[in-house]
Amino acid sequence: MSSFDLRLLLDPPRYPANRYAPLADRIKRLLATHANVVFVQAEAILALEAVAISIARPGRVAVNVVTSPYGAWFGTWLSRGGAGVHQVSAAPGQPIDAAAVSACLERLPQVDIIAAVHAESSNGALNPLAELAALARSRDALFVVDAVASVGGHPIDFDQHGIDIAVIGAQKALAGPAGVSGVAVSARAWAHIAASPDVAPSSLSLMDLKRNWLERGRLALPGMPPPLEFWALEAALDRVEAEGIEHVIARHRQAARASRAGLRALGIEPWIARDEAASALVTSAPVPTGVDAHTLIADAARMGVELAPGYGEIEGRLVRLDHTGTRAKFDAVLANVTAYGTALERQRVDVDIGAAARAVNDVYAAR
Ligand SMILES: *Cc1c(COP(=O)(O)O)cnc(C)c1O
Repeated sequence: MSSFDLRLLLDPPRYPANRYAPLADRIKRLLATHANVVFVQAEAILALEAVAISIARPGRVAVNVVTSPYGAWFGTWLSRGGAGVHQVSAAPGQPIDAAAVSACLERLPQVDIIAAVHAESSNGALNPLAELAALARSRDALFVVDAVASVGGHPIDFDQHGIDIAVIGAQKALAGPAGVSGVAVSARAWAHIAASPDVAPSSLSLMDLKRNWLERGRLALPGMPPPLEFWALEAALDRVEAEGIEHVIARHRQAARASRAGLRALGIEPWIARDEAASALVTSAPVPTGVDAHTLIADAARMGVELAPGYGEIEGRLVRLDHTGTRAKFDAVLANVTAYGTALERQRVDVDIGAAARAVNDVYAAR
């Protein structure tokens, strides 16, 4: 950081109108969709609020899956828009069980919206996208997915799953900027949005983006693109496309596999027990009974490893081993696992650090 010349950020060229639509098309390819992709020129949390505001109205019934604070906020925004919101919450820090969503649906005569986060960066949970998609289809409900963290870590397959709205950000697995977000919107979702109260003119109105950009042939800019963010998104997509999105996803999978093997070899069961229910972005590890989370994090920090605390109600109960984006590689994973093990050992937990290092090595050495 100290060698980074901040002056490089000054006087960037304006982001030209003729690059805006091709950039959206590159996002479409990442999501494997023919749906429209629009940009919300802000961080992803604002794009999520825009989606909620654009689809909510009195009389609509939403089933909102909550597996982190992000999902809880989404439910709040839907309620504020007048929708009747039924929350289905997982155990703290855990993925949702599709059966719980199914049970909620059975109690409701009408369901218009099902919303869920795909992969959680705040606790490492991976929600069952295909099962939730099938439930949404079975009730002819709009299926809304927060794919901010999962894009680049897991396949999204927007069209194949019949997703109606997905929000993505570049700042997690794609290792890009945090100040511009993409929203993919199916034809069905546009019809739904058109039948909702129009909040335009507003930065939260997806209808505004449709009118001012899509319906004008995607030629005129729908607002002033912040040049630093848009150029950075291009650079991130250049890097992702050069590597290949499948390879980026495989690299995250491998990091998760190695992290989980490492934890188990230490003698610690990962916070999320089932491998298929764990996200490839971060691996959560428990803070064992009798261990102080702050000391654990501070001891790892002394080794140069940042273990993030749990986010929300699970703070203090887990730490996150971050292998997102450029960290989805051998040296970061090995450092995470061994630093966590060493910090535990200092608090008198019996762990096998040598075995953990070997387990991580084995995953990366395998052909
Ligand atoms: C990071 C994240 C967000 C919020 O993105 P910001 O750009 O930080 O606002 C939303 N949802 C999920 C699942 C995330 O991981």
